[in-house]
Amino acid sequence: MKNNKFTKLTQSVHAGSGGDKIFKGTVNPIFPSSAYDYEDVPSTLYPRYFNTPNQVAVAEKLAALENAESGVVFSSGMAAILTSIFAMMQKGDHAIFQSDLYGGTFHAVVNELPRYGMEYTLVDASNPDNFEKAIRKETRVIYIETPSNPTLKITDIRAVSTIARRHGITTIIDNTFASPVNQNPIDLGIDIVTHSGTKYIGGHSDICCGAAVASTRLIKKILESAIHFGGSLDAHTCWLVERSLKTLVLRVRQQNLNALTIAQYLKTDSRIGNVYYPGLADHPDYVTAKAQMPGGFGGMLSFELNIDAHIFMGKLNLIKRAISLGGVETTITSPTKTSHSKMSASERAAIGVTDNLVRLSVGIEDSNDLIDDIQQALDKG
Ligand code: PLP
Repeated sequence: MKNNKFTKLTQSVHAGSGGDKIFKGTVNPIFPSSAYDYEDVPSTLYPRYFNTPNQVAVAEKLAALENAESGVVFSSGMAAILTSIFAMMQKGDHAIFQSDLYGGTFHAVVNELPRYGMEYTLVDASNPDNFEKAIRKETRVIYIETPSNPTLKITDIRAVSTIARRHGITTIIDNTFASPVNQNPIDLGIDIVTHSGTKYIGGHSDICCGAAVASTRLIKKILESAIHFGGSLDAHTCWLVERSLKTLVLRVRQQNLNALTIAQYLKTDSRIGNVYYPGLADHPDYVTAKAQMPGGFGGMLSFELNIDAHIFMGKLNLIKRAISLGGVETTITSPTKTSHSKMSASERAAIGVTDNLVRLSVGIEDSNDLIDDIQQALDKG
């Protein structure tokens, strides 16, 4: 179902459905075959061709939610991100990345691109002009991530896409933190949107997957590389992802509300230092965030503690210490020990990741219970 007259609430339930042609059941069946007839069919289906029914159902739903023409589902966020980057580049090409990246992406860029003869420049994304200054004649890709992980900095999407279009450069954004509910970068001129579906899209801390959505032309290009790299997702997991997506809008809306309530509370407690949440009016990029995140400011926030962060985390009862994010349950993590552990201390310092910074992935619980848990841990800390 590609019908933009429907809102996200309706798209999340119905897009990509209607796959049970035999019994006309309400939900799509699971098609687990890895072997399909190649004669009497319009195209050859094969899981690593990313074109089996359950893969296509997820891709269609995500494309609808992101206002994109087409999509492709991957076995992880990193598979989606790196396949998309590599599909747009060749030996000798150059790409520009914002310096404030998810640690895994940063590490992959720094280690993998040079091995294939590709060059990169990292730029401070707080001023979009920095992207323009870094452009060379070999630049093929500009890659951004907003809100950023873990300090929730905002990159001005429209400003970056305008610069890139002027120079004929393909733009890629990691839209994981915002989710398709809050921010749709295709509407702001971005070419390719990637997701770690392991986060909000899966939403229950039990699935690893990824996705890219874009124009049909660019998805065809991504698929040419994807078929070689082989990061495809199996039918059973696709079916679970499709099931999760039906409640994406409801989950994320509750997470938006809870995160704002908790961020506002944290600002009032003297045991807390800096609070990073783009929905706070004193966030330096609040105005940009409000304009480019019409659905809400997301469920992610981070804050610095004036007491020992690790003792504090150990005292929490309801909120669980965990890597990853975007689940229905609220989790907390220390970026220096998890997502940014492979960066050097100076690389971390450059993007504001200190030892006493903790990142909260706010779930769908009652926000009063979450605040109570934070308060009792602060009291014991
Ligand atoms: N992008 C962001 C913002 C992430 O937080 C992560 C994982 O934590 C990834 C990409 C990578 O996703 P995955 O672990 O599904 O490969």
